Amino acid sequence: MKPILETKNLCVSYGNTKILEDINISVNRGEILAIVGESGCGKSTLLKSLIRLMPSNAKIEKGEINYQNRDLLKLSNEELRQIRGKEISMVFQNSGASLCPIRTIEKQFIEALQSHEDLSKEEIRKLIEDIFSKINLKDVDRILKSYPFELSGGMNQRVGIALAMLSKPSLILADEPTSALDVTAQAQVVKTLMKLRDSFKTSIIIITHNMGVVSFMVDKVAVMYGGKIVEYGRKKDIMHNPLHPYTQMLIKSTPSMKPSKLLGIPGNPPSFEEKRIGCAFASRCNKAFEKCFIEEPLPSNCKSSIVSCHLYKEVIAEEIIV
Ligand code: SF4
Repeated sequence: MKPILETKNLCVSYGNTKILEDINISVNRGEILAIVGESGCGKSTLLKSLIRLMPSNAKIEKGEINYQNRDLLKLSNEELRQIRGKEISMVFQNSGASLCPIRTIEKQFIEALQSHEDLSKEEIRKLIEDIFSKINLKDVDRILKSYPFELSGGMNQRVGIALAMLSKPSLILADEPTSALDVTAQAQVVKTLMKLRDSFKTSIIIITHNMGVVSFMVDKVAVMYGGKIVEYGRKKDIMHNPLHPYTQMLIKSTPSMKPSKLLGIPGNPPSFEEKRIGCAFASRCNKAFEKCFIEEPLPSNCKSSIVSCHLYKEVIAEEIIV
C-alpha cells in the first residue's frame, strides 16, 4: 500500500541550529502513527514542518514530504493553503485556546466551511450534524450557541476535532490533544479520534507523552530523541519488545496501576545547540559503552523495527515497515 504521507531524510534547522535530522516516517490510509519522546526532542517541530507551519527562522534544509504523490516542499503557498485545513487538518493541545473566544461555536464552523466551499445554511447545518453524530457529540444546538468559555476543556477539544474534520481531511495532525485534559476527557478524545479513523478512514499522526494512549489507539510508533528518530516500528513491537535503551526507559517511566517503583530517566535531553559526538543518549544510557561516546549510531533494520543504537548494528530485518 502506498503511504498517504511519507517523509524522506527530512532535515530542519532554526537559524544555524539543526533541530530535525534525517526524519523518515510514513502513514498509510486509516493508520495512526504516534510520535513519542520527552519535551524538547523536536516532536512539535516535526508535526508543524509536515505542513510548513513553521516560525520565520525555520528552514527545511533537505528532504521530501510526499503527500498523495505531491512533494509538499515544492508547492507554492497558495497550493499549500488549499491542502491545509482541507486535506490535512491540525488538532492542537488546547483547542479551547485556539477557538476564538468572542464568536460562538456555530460562527466558527460557518467561517471554517465557507473559507473552502460555497455552501448554503442548510448544507452547513447538515454537515455539522453529520460530523457531530459521527463523533458522538450530542446536544448540537446547545454546543453551537455556546462560546468556547461556556464549554468544558474536554468538550472544547472534541469541538476542535469536529472543526478539523469538517472538510473530511485524509490526514489529521494532532499535537498532544489529550495532555491538557483530565482522565475522563482524555478517554473521550481518544475514542473520538478512533471513531474518525473508523468512520472516514482518516490517517492520524499524533504527538503524545501518554504511553496509555499509544497502547490503546495507535498502529505505529516513532520514538524521538535529540531531533532524530531512534526507534520506529509497529506498536506491538515497540510496546512489548522495545529495543532502544531510551524506548525501554521511556516505557518503564510510565505510571502503572500495579504497585511498582516508578523509574525516571536520569539527566536531561541534549540541547540542540550543543556539539554532539557519539550517541546523543550516551550520558543517560544505562547500557552505554566506549563506542557510544565516539561514534554516532546509524539506523538499522532490526527484527521488524528500525533502531539507532550500537547494540543493534546487525541488519536482521525480514520485514520492512511501510
Ligand atoms: Fe545506549 Fe550506546 Fe545504544 Fe546510545 S548507542 S542508546 S549509548 S547503547
